[in-house]
Amino acid sequence: MTDKFMKIAMAGLIGTALASAPHVSAYPDMDAVYNSFPTYSNKGNDLELTVDKTGTHFALWSPQATQARVYIYNNGRTGTPTDTLDMKKDSASGVWRASSPEQLYGKFYTFSINHDGKWLAETPGVWAKAVGANGTRAAIINMAATNPEGWENDKGPELTNNTDAILYEMHHRDFSIHPSSGIANKGKFLALTEPGTANPQGQSTGIDHLKDLGVTHVHILPSFDYNSVDETNLPANTYNWGYDPVNYNAPEGSYSTNPSDPETRIREMKEMVQALHNAGIGVVMDVVYNHTAQNDESNFSLTAPGYYYRHRADGTYSDASGCGNETASERQQMRDFIVNSVKYWAKEYHIDGFRFDLMAIHDIATMNQVADELRKINPNIIIYGEGWTAGDSPLPVEQRALKDHAYRMPGVAVFSDDIRDAVKGHYSNAADRGFASGKTGNEETVKIGIVGATNHPQVDYSKGNNSKKAYTLSPNQVVNYVSCHDDMCLTDKLAASLPDADEQQRKRVARLAQTIVFTSQGIPFMFAGEEVFRNKHGIHNTYNSPDSVNAIDWNLLDANADQNEYYRQLIRLRKQHPAFRMSDASEVARNLVFDNVKTPNVISYSLKNHANGDPAAEIKVIFNGNPEAVTTRIPRGKWTILANDGVIDADGKTLGTSQGGKVTVPPTCALILMR
Ligand code: CA
Repeated sequence: MTDKFMKIAMAGLIGTALASAPHVSAYPDMDAVYNSFPTYSNKGNDLELTVDKTGTHFALWSPQATQARVYIYNNGRTGTPTDTLDMKKDSASGVWRASSPEQLYGKFYTFSINHDGKWLAETPGVWAKAVGANGTRAAIINMAATNPEGWENDKGPELTNNTDAILYEMHHRDFSIHPSSGIANKGKFLALTEPGTANPQGQSTGIDHLKDLGVTHVHILPSFDYNSVDETNLPANTYNWGYDPVNYNAPEGSYSTNPSDPETRIREMKEMVQALHNAGIGVVMDVVYNHTAQNDESNFSLTAPGYYYRHRADGTYSDASGCGNETASERQQMRDFIVNSVKYWAKEYHIDGFRFDLMAIHDIATMNQVADELRKINPNIIIYGEGWTAGDSPLPVEQRALKDHAYRMPGVAVFSDDIRDAVKGHYSNAADRGFASGKTGNEETVKIGIVGATNHPQVDYSKGNNSKKAYTLSPNQVVNYVSCHDDMCLTDKLAASLPDADEQQRKRVARLAQTIVFTSQGIPFMFAGEEVFRNKHGIHNTYNSPDSVNAIDWNLLDANADQNEYYRQLIRLRKQHPAFRMSDASEVARNLVFDNVKTPNVISYSLKNHANGDPAAEIKVIFNGNPEAVTTRIPRGKWTILANDGVIDADGKTLGTSQGGKVTVPPTCALILMR
């Protein structure tokens, strides 16, 4: 992904430079200017609002402002200010302060600064923790009053290693909006708090379905306050993924039952977290600190113009996000913002993990600080991200939090595009097939996935399609997957790349593909609804497609009950066998042994020595990506069959045994045995 976009971006830059070279004005090197600004950490938690016995206190970091004001309102959206407070600057910190002797609970506020002789538009600031509808004004509320009953005892699941997690990526609307969900609070945070919901056939949906499936964490698409959905017109039923951040420290209003009441969204999101925790399921938040929805009008720009972003040599916004701008994590106040923002979500909302969008836009030092600080709050916390950018960046490559630099970020995991593309075919070329769909030549790249991108003596990284070196220090640092919200979902990808196959055959390919993911070393990740073979009507990018495209039809739980049962057993298999969940690269190198198989599109390996405390002395895993049966040899002995011919029995009670020797592996499936 990086390469492809980078070439386009570079070509564009070169073209611009040549065309405009004689006219380039002398844009000053602003890095030196910005780095000379005084900074102020929010560790004391007094940015931008504090309410205590002495009143209500405002504090805005705005080093360039010549004047600053606070406007107080009775309403979250309309009406004129009831009061205006002039702020005073502390030059040492760049922070402007003003206070009211009253506790202004129930009121709203905005800031405005005078910059270069001009009053800029009002902004709720960058640290608003409660906001009115559409997040244009911040709200003064008593946060303690938003805690659901029993919140003080709420706790997420404990993880020994990242590799014990099973991630389920979902969008709030996808998961609950379809009438077949049987859920009352469709498309809301509260959807995940409803037990006992069912589809028309009586099969469990919602949180009960997640428990039944066995996933350990839900990974929720952006749930901070984003821009694209009008919270004052929810009947319009607008859909958006939410990768257009506005207020990073307040929940999105459209997922609440009342966006106009600032407390409601906060309380309901906490109720969601609590309900999932009570079900033994953790919550990972998708965070998008790499860019903002707007440029000059963003909350960052309206408080410290220019400071929070990177720019090109001509002074325009650089755009490594492909969304119009990119933030500058290497600057102290931006780094502090990211670190303190995730800390806030972990503490206030008990969030169990963070997925960083376009993580390579951030610098390595920031990501390491994120990991160090979060682990002080919760040693079980999972941190992972996309180890690429969507365009070129002024940030030097060696500083970027890239996949290839994972070994320099021991507390952070990266998505494996290696296993993703090798198993199902290239993400952007719909017709391209992969190992599971019968295309040869991907075997070595699949092996990179199987060993969790660690250094393994039997893997030849020079043959890797995407990576040419082992990039992790341990399997805890890689997220294995074949599909996510981006690009075609697995069902659509298989329909596009296997046009002559019928649905039964494609379901079989999907099973093999996910079996490779869920038996590989690393952290397995799945896209919601693939367990029922959901589709998205063949559309690649559904970020603003209507519910009719994005909603999961839970009638499929009945129509594709066999698929759901396969996923359920696959997850059980992984949970019952620690050998699939090693957390140490040297253990993987010692206990995972590939067999020398000559047949194309067949991979065979063993997990030996009761790896990672496994009850089995040896597990044999054979993947046949060919649409015809193959024969291979395994050692003679008494083997129990765990998976064969598109069926898994994690308990090994119904699929029989094998004496070893010459074995036949049916078309497009995994044969898994143990002894
Ligand atoms: Ca919003």
